[in-house]
Amino acid sequence: YGDTSQKIDYVFKVVLIGDSAVGKSQILSRFARNEFSLDSKATIGVEFQTRTLVIQHKSVKAQIWDTAGQERYRAVTSAYYRGAVGAMLAYDITKRQSFDHIPRWLEELRGHADKNIVIILIGNKCDLENQRAVSTEDAREFAEKEGLFFLETSALEATNVETAFLTILTEIFNIVN
Ligand code: GDP
Ligand code: MG
Repeated sequence: YGDTSQKIDYVFKVVLIGDSAVGKSQILSRFARNEFSLDSKATIGVEFQTRTLVIQHKSVKAQIWDTAGQERYRAVTSAYYRGAVGAMLAYDITKRQSFDHIPRWLEELRGHADKNIVIILIGNKCDLENQRAVSTEDAREFAEKEGLFFLETSALEATNVETAFLTILTEIFNIVN
């Protein structure tokens, strides 16, 4: 899906973080393989998936790392963050607690990652509007205050997943060019 036998101009490591069950693995699966599963198993072992895209006539291999059920506070190791140039910080719009934990994730990220890392805040499961527990405005305000990009996504309906990755990858691309 999107991968062709071409030379690679850049490899960008991007990490996915956020509470368990917010949809990180499904966001990745949607982006890397255009697949979605409603009964996804908890991820076992650190793993990443890649997809190669073209940005401004250069081929960019996005190497997206997914946490492996280590989503407890401080359980994600520094090896996970090493070399990351981008981060997607995800919460579930129907789970207030997953949004309330975002400042912790941000603190952990800023403690481990490169200080120039590009970060996007992702409010996932926006297809479940009738169960919404976090307003778009609250999240946008938080993102602005912290200098993060922000989008609401649905891995289920494929809403904004592509845009979220393109936003972060294009920003990284512009920084290195
Ligand atoms: P993770 O623990 O953050 O990796 O979360 P998963 O990707 O395993 O997803 C947890 C559960 O939420 C699974 O049952 C998914 O099918 C479901 N899920 C993930 N993304 C969405 C979404 O955008 N909409 C809805 N309705 N469910 C989702
Ligand atoms: Mg997972």
